[in-house]
Amino acid sequence: MIKGKKVFILGMARSGFEAAKILAKDNEVLVTDMNEQDINQVQILEELGVKIVICKNPINLLDNSFDIMIKNPGIKYDHPTVLKAKDLGIKVINEVELAYKYMNKNVNIIGVTGSNGKTTTVTLIYNIMKEAGLPVHLGGNIGTPLCNFVKDIKENDYLVMEISDHQLCDMYSFKTNVSVLTNIYEVHTDFHDSHEKYVQTKKKIFNNHTKKDIAIINFDNKEAVDISKDINSTKYYFSKNSKQNVYLKDNAIYYHDEKVIDCNDIKLKGMHNYENIMAAISAVKVYNVEDEVICKVLRSFGGVEHRIEYVDTIDGVDYYNDSKATNCESTKIALKSFNQSTLLILGGLDRGHSFDDLTTCMNNVTYVACYGETKSRIKEYCDRIGIDCGVFDNLNKATMACYEKAQQGDVVLLSPACASWDQYKKFEDRGDEFKQLVKSLKEV
Ligand code: ADP
Repeated sequence: MIKGKKVFILGMARSGFEAAKILAKDNEVLVTDMNEQDINQVQILEELGVKIVICKNPINLLDNSFDIMIKNPGIKYDHPTVLKAKDLGIKVINEVELAYKYMNKNVNIIGVTGSNGKTTTVTLIYNIMKEAGLPVHLGGNIGTPLCNFVKDIKENDYLVMEISDHQLCDMYSFKTNVSVLTNIYEVHTDFHDSHEKYVQTKKKIFNNHTKKDIAIINFDNKEAVDISKDINSTKYYFSKNSKQNVYLKDNAIYYHDEKVIDCNDIKLKGMHNYENIMAAISAVKVYNVEDEVICKVLRSFGGVEHRIEYVDTIDGVDYYNDSKATNCESTKIALKSFNQSTLLILGGLDRGHSFDDLTTCMNNVTYVACYGETKSRIKEYCDRIGIDCGVFDNLNKATMACYEKAQQGDVVLLSPACASWDQYKKFEDRGDEFKQLVKSLKEV
């Protein structure tokens, strides 16, 4: 707990709001943000005695009378106000580290990080543990900020957490019992300035571990294996290529010498999802969850919303929503997940990126429907590689065209390889609209 301190919260959003709420009773709290905030939330905090200042230049509000800064994970470590805090010797932490100070010390924490697959893996772990009847909570970078419900987590409960590298930056005393590192890939490193720094940040998921704590690592990912060489944890590996604690063999997933499930019985699609499943099985096996429970979830779990999410089948055609695919890399992963003939919907915000990267995965694509800012460049690309392509004003018309062209056994896949911001506020809105359209077509 934190008591009798003066706290500076940099960036409100949901996590800053919850941090202020938990601190307000016992501390003097100032929240600052550059954007106007929800009036109801402002009122709630003001009633708790929190001071809120909306301004573009918060640096002048900070002086050495403050003891702690809570930084929103989206704000870079070299933000002038953060640098000033460090100069003044003010400890900078984030909302998760703060919540940890309020957490019962006998909670079993499972933390998941990695470049890709975090949300899918934590959701799998959470669903399996819930199915097993264990008292489990879900938090971190997913759902409600931890400060909101940390006091409700009881001794010996389980907490499954998605932890982004932005969050790992400002964590010090936070410690998991089981840490999962799904993979490390080359990503946009604007936030961390270099790949090396990004990789070192990921390593913090194993912070404060001793031999009693478990590290679950993707054996096939060299960088993940390399950075975890000198950690103190007990290491368990999963692999799609070689026999490890959990591994893929003859189209089935094994735990040691036991077959857990045939891949044909798994509802999720794609090799990348088998990796996420192996990570999740490794984690729940630490707590001795039975194969029967694991299989029940894997047979029915169709994926996290907007990530190669099965929507429906109309006249023998399967519709999938992969609106989260905002770049070619993600669209390639989606395309690799299907063997059937695929009608692909592409398009969205134009960042000037090339679509040539898709070519190696376009073998099953029989038709492309494109729309959005990038539509003429996509049309030019398809003409060049000889794929039939229709150009449309919006997602609605593109989806209709696929509906009319698709034949029994085909897949219609929204995996746009572009951000949504030319026509939508966020990728979730784009995915929701697609699902709504599919639903209305089904009703016809
Ligand atoms: P995250 O939470 O790390 O962003 P998600 O589980 O939300 O990951 O998946 C987002 C996208 O990342 C998926 O649609 C897929 O394109 C890709 N992906 C998911 N899991 C993996 C994996 N294990 N390896 C590579 N790519 C993956």
